[in-house]
Amino acid sequence: MMRRAVLVLVLVLAALAGACNAAAADLSPAEQRLVAAVQAESADALLLLERSVNINSGTMNAAGVREVGALFRRQLDQLGFHTRWIDMPAAMQRAGHLLATRDGGQGKRVLLLGHLDTVFEPDSPVQKWDRQGARVRGQGVNDMKGGDVALIQALRALARVGALEHSRLAVLLTGDEEHAGDPKSVSRRDMVELAKASDVALAFEGTVLGPGGRATGTVGRRATSEFTLDVKGRQAHSAGIFGAAGYGAVYEAARILDGFRQQVVEPGLTFNPGVILGGTDIGYDPAQSRGSAFGKTNVIANAVTVKGDLRYLDDAQRDRARARMRAIAAQSLPGTSASITFDDSYPPMAVTAGNLALLALYSQASADAGLGEIDALPAEARGAGDIQFAAPYVDSLDGLGASGRGAHSPGEELELASVERAAIRTALLLYRLTR
Ligand SMILES: [Zn+2]
Repeated sequence: MMRRAVLVLVLVLAALAGACNAAAADLSPAEQRLVAAVQAESADALLLLERSVNINSGTMNAAGVREVGALFRRQLDQLGFHTRWIDMPAAMQRAGHLLATRDGGQGKRVLLLGHLDTVFEPDSPVQKWDRQGARVRGQGVNDMKGGDVALIQALRALARVGALEHSRLAVLLTGDEEHAGDPKSVSRRDMVELAKASDVALAFEGTVLGPGGRATGTVGRRATSEFTLDVKGRQAHSAGIFGAAGYGAVYEAARILDGFRQQVVEPGLTFNPGVILGGTDIGYDPAQSRGSAFGKTNVIANAVTVKGDLRYLDDAQRDRARARMRAIAAQSLPGTSASITFDDSYPPMAVTAGNLALLALYSQASADAGLGEIDALPAEARGAGDIQFAAPYVDSLDGLGASGRGAHSPGEELELASVERAAIRTALLLYRLTR
């Protein structure tokens, strides 16, 4: 009996060991060493995260942004990257960006994107590093110092196993992602140039978890643009509004906006009139996003202005939406006229076949490491981000960072173990991309 019990125990243990190794079974011996190297870096990575979070780096706190940049720069210097700080013009009032490159002459040219700044300025009441067991709260833990550190951890692990040697990588950590400096043709010029010289772009914004806690990858992000609708009417006595005087600017603005809502909506497209002013004397200050309006109930309003945003999946959708909006605005009620203008802000990260192929590689790496397959996150599920400036030129994937909750809010927090998971997936993906 005793001997049989021991035999059963041995069999059970063997089965358990087999189950544990199943995760690694799809990794080559070199890849298994790489995963072990990532795990060996985890304690240092958490210390690096804590140090970076304890430096306030609100976008407008240029000194703090540069200090976080210097901290990460030392890490990248140690790994043999050529690093430099890219200054922005003084008038832009932004800290600048950290660029680190290495050109080993082999494999895909990969652009790696993160940002140094957070939405929390020095006067923010939100605490810095506040660890509570397996999670941590703090300024930018999730958006996106956790992702920056996961990237650095992956690079350190690749270096440890000698796999960084011949790779062609560019790491760009921007200092103003949360409030990009204007003009963007200047603040994002280096990113665009790097994207044009790359095969793949990966960004380390937080990994969004889908149903059942499954990780997702971001293969598309909607473009943002703004619209301005200006409507004119004839100022006259209110009694004439349904007669010769015409309907006035307010009714006409209402007609146009409701026309947009009823006739222009399609999946993935949204437009939001955010502010409206109407009357006989209106003024709007775009710098302050505020204005004034004067009018009288017995006078037909002669002017309305509306400011809104327009978010779209790709340029074809943008062009379709704008053509319909212009057509609706042109169907003027008697006694009125209207004009609508558009301003592009963030270009779209369209869902392309190249992005989906990159997601498939990433998902395979994750599954092979026993961390589960990765689903595509719908493009409308997250706001605008830096990768959109690179995406028009290169196959792109975002959302490779750590996982947390409440980005931009006082409750922003991070699951600490997710940094290691992100680093393992990233290290394997980079290993496979650069071979
Ligand atoms: Zn971010």
